[in-house]
Amino acid sequence: MNGYGGKILRINLTTGQISKEPTPTHIAEKFLGGRGFGIYFLYTEVPRGADPLGPENKIIASPGPLSGTLAPGAGKMDFTTKSPLTGGYASASVGGHLTAELKYAGYDSIIIEGISPKPVYLYINDDEVELRDASDLWGKGSITVETELKKRLGEEFQIATIGPAGENLVKYACITHDFGRQAGRGGVGAVMGAKKLKAIAVHGTRDIPVADPQALLRLGTEAIKACKASEAFEVWVRYGTSGVTVWSNEVGAFPVRNFQAGALEDYSGLSGETMRQRIVITDKGCFGCPSPCGKYSYSKKYSIYVEGPEYETTALIGGDCVLTDIEDVAYANWLCDELGIDSISVGNVIAFAIECFEKGILTKEETEGLELRWGDPQVVFTLLEKIARREGIGDLLAEGVKHASQKLGENSEEFAIHVKGMEMSGYECHNAPAMLLSYMTCDVGAHHNRSWAITYDLQVGRDLVTDDKVDRVIYLQHVRPLFDCLGACRLQWVELSIDLGLYPPILKAITGIDRSWEDLMKISERVWNLTRMYWVREVEGFGREWDYPPPRFYKEPVTYGPTKGKRMEWDDIQRLLDTYYQKRGWDKNGIPTPEKLAELGLAEIVRIGV
Ligand code: SF4
Repeated sequence: MNGYGGKILRINLTTGQISKEPTPTHIAEKFLGGRGFGIYFLYTEVPRGADPLGPENKIIASPGPLSGTLAPGAGKMDFTTKSPLTGGYASASVGGHLTAELKYAGYDSIIIEGISPKPVYLYINDDEVELRDASDLWGKGSITVETELKKRLGEEFQIATIGPAGENLVKYACITHDFGRQAGRGGVGAVMGAKKLKAIAVHGTRDIPVADPQALLRLGTEAIKACKASEAFEVWVRYGTSGVTVWSNEVGAFPVRNFQAGALEDYSGLSGETMRQRIVITDKGCFGCPSPCGKYSYSKKYSIYVEGPEYETTALIGGDCVLTDIEDVAYANWLCDELGIDSISVGNVIAFAIECFEKGILTKEETEGLELRWGDPQVVFTLLEKIARREGIGDLLAEGVKHASQKLGENSEEFAIHVKGMEMSGYECHNAPAMLLSYMTCDVGAHHNRSWAITYDLQVGRDLVTDDKVDRVIYLQHVRPLFDCLGACRLQWVELSIDLGLYPPILKAITGIDRSWEDLMKISERVWNLTRMYWVREVEGFGREWDYPPPRFYKEPVTYGPTKGKRMEWDDIQRLLDTYYQKRGWDKNGIPTPEKLAELGLAEIVRIGV
């Protein structure tokens, strides 16, 4: 099959059995790859009601048909599993070089099941696949383990690993790769930890069969040229995602003090310019990237090298916890990487804990004498360590804000910032209905990357609650996740305006399959609906109220910034949901109708997977 490695690798950690199966052509046609493969295997293979941290849950790691080719940014890989954080669907993508290496080894997915009796790592060197003892790596940090495994196996091996947070089943532990790239959201690292799988090491030497190499060379070159010719190219490469920090503050989209405010009083210490001047030492890109947004930094204050900080880390650990020195954020970022924690979720968790302390809900006894205050880097560093090791208050906070607030009570659920149990990423949206709807309806919880609609709010008027905002959210929820199915980075399109019309011919040149843009959007819609059905199947009583935003966004106005005094109206939230469900072909409770499932060719899969 052109464009594919050709095999699915299946690892049973309980029995140690390793097997290879041909990649099913009809699944590739229907779901493309990446997160499309992820949800297909999750839905059809993991039994209903499986414990996310038990042996029945699986991790499905998948490149896509573009991965490892000349397509721009062809370096994205998806990890899908049942989330220990939310109890629903989790899919986290990671850049770097893992996805290309896996394709070169000949695999389109690794399906990992069972639980190993002892710590192991998965060794893949083309056809040679083994589970190797990782007892001596257990307890060590992600960056340390990646360095160690490269030393043992060779620099050509690409490594994905978990840190102590994953081992200790922190519900938002991540998988780390390429010294600072993360499959961050939903607790995929905790699932690896529960399986006693410390790392995956991959090396591949095969070619990827391509239908029309000349056409791919021509189209890939054209796309890369278009990307480099973009007006935004230089700024993007200079600052990466941290280029939006100043903009975010100036428009009041920067989360501050647990999303109470939309801007920091003084954000100069966190700006992309400050970061570039003070700590960045080089740019760093994923496989095949013409526009490297990764920044590799050195903090003199803490003597650490770290990738980033990315905007999201600066927003949630910087803004939301009020750390205003980029070197403090960089060190917290390094701790997140080494401990293996999602910096978005943990920034929220720490901000929530500080607010609880401020309100007397958490006491000094419970924090073992630690005074939780805004703007204190030592508080952030200490809590990060405690959470990763589940020590003292860290044990409660390791469960995420939803469970921590349910346990603490005293109205703390009113300011636990999450949707579906996942903490919100870095855009304040008391006054951004499209962005809020994006968070409410995102398929993994409150995550921005499926639909980054805040610029649309700003463009058409942020007070407006109109149907076109719903249309925009749905459109983005199909386009952006499509890249996760293709196994490529979306940022060349989002930030650097590569024409979407280039992608169908690129896919055809690789696979030989002629698909229109509408066909691809339909595939993405199919994936979106199957992920929704996964929630319906797994979460008892799943429906409309699971799409509600945190109360803070409609009960409390913004306290500081250009949107000061603004909040959403409850009636508008309900109207947005009604319109969204109707446009999606779902019922009033947010459940896809049988007609919609039949239209997308999902009826049979849903029936079998029940
Ligand atoms: S734009 Fe950034 S995330 Fe995307 S491929 Fe390039 S370096 Fe990776």
